[in-house]
Amino acid sequence: MPIATPDIYKQMLKKAKDSKYAFAAINVTSMETARAAMAGFADKKSDGIIQVSTGGGEYASGVNVKDMALGAIAIAEYIHKMADSYNVYFALHTDHCHPHKLDKFVKPLIAETRKRRKMGLPNLFNSHMFDGSELPLKQNMEISKELLKEMTELELLLEVEAGVVGGEEDGHDTSGVSNDKLYTTPEDMEYVYDQLSPISKDFLFAATFGNVHGVYKPGNVKLTPSILKDGQEAVSNKFQGASLNLVFHGGSGSSIEEIHETLEYGVIKMNVDTDTQYAYSRDLVDFIFTNYKEILKIDGEVGNKKKYDPRAYGKIAEKSMALRVGKSCDDLRSTGKSLLL
Ligand SMILES: [Zn+2]
Repeated sequence: MPIATPDIYKQMLKKAKDSKYAFAAINVTSMETARAAMAGFADKKSDGIIQVSTGGGEYASGVNVKDMALGAIAIAEYIHKMADSYNVYFALHTDHCHPHKLDKFVKPLIAETRKRRKMGLPNLFNSHMFDGSELPLKQNMEISKELLKEMTELELLLEVEAGVVGGEEDGHDTSGVSNDKLYTTPEDMEYVYDQLSPISKDFLFAATFGNVHGVYKPGNVKLTPSILKDGQEAVSNKFQGASLNLVFHGGSGSSIEEIHETLEYGVIKMNVDTDTQYAYSRDLVDFIFTNYKEILKIDGEVGNKKKYDPRAYGKIAEKSMALRVGKSCDDLRSTGKSLLL
């Protein structure tokens, strides 16, 4: 199927919210990981979100080019081409864009959409995240409102964040941030809704409830999903039954009970990166270690071309990651719920 149109993306999100499930949003950085994400969703008959971060875009553009927007566009073009071969919907999103990267990432991507629409082409992406959580909330929302206006006109959805997701991801380290910033307050959630909903009610909101990027040993992360419940109640009371479309960042390593609890409170997108990164590497490393005497040219031997051909271990890594994507579909209850069924 083609990539979800703006309307279909909204339908995907609405059905998830109404039926209390969520989409895994899988970070991809290459054709291999993009294929793994598509295969993982399709195998589970689940629609899904595939996303590119600033670092992922830069990586995808190559070590000589290092252009985060160009790399993201290249991956998105590839997924658009390949998506036709699958029987579920994929939506394309970009992950955390901090204020100092707007001019290098989200703004050129919006410009690309504008250019494509003028040529009568469909949007390349469905949504973008602006992460202004390092700014005071008022300033964060001022920038968010400007972006939301422009993006709504182009049928792009915006994801925003208030509060700070702990940990380190993609070179952005928040481990020094004070603990109270790791929890969004009901007042923050009311303020975000109040500021953004007059422009569009279809924005996504990454609330923080002790979630961290990365994976930690059990017991080191204290999630408080009830923060989401309290915030939704506050928004509902103040704005006549309204609610936010919530995004769960740092989902890797969370327990199934915690994940399911967040679905009750309106989480409809959960970002998964660390767990799929590990899955990709896990079976690849196994192959390399098991076959290293054939992969390497040792003691004057010539090695085995069939083993050091990058496709040999690439396929294994891709399959392993696809299985992990499928597990996320099960965990988030999106399995078997594609709009195309
Ligand atoms: Zn995140």
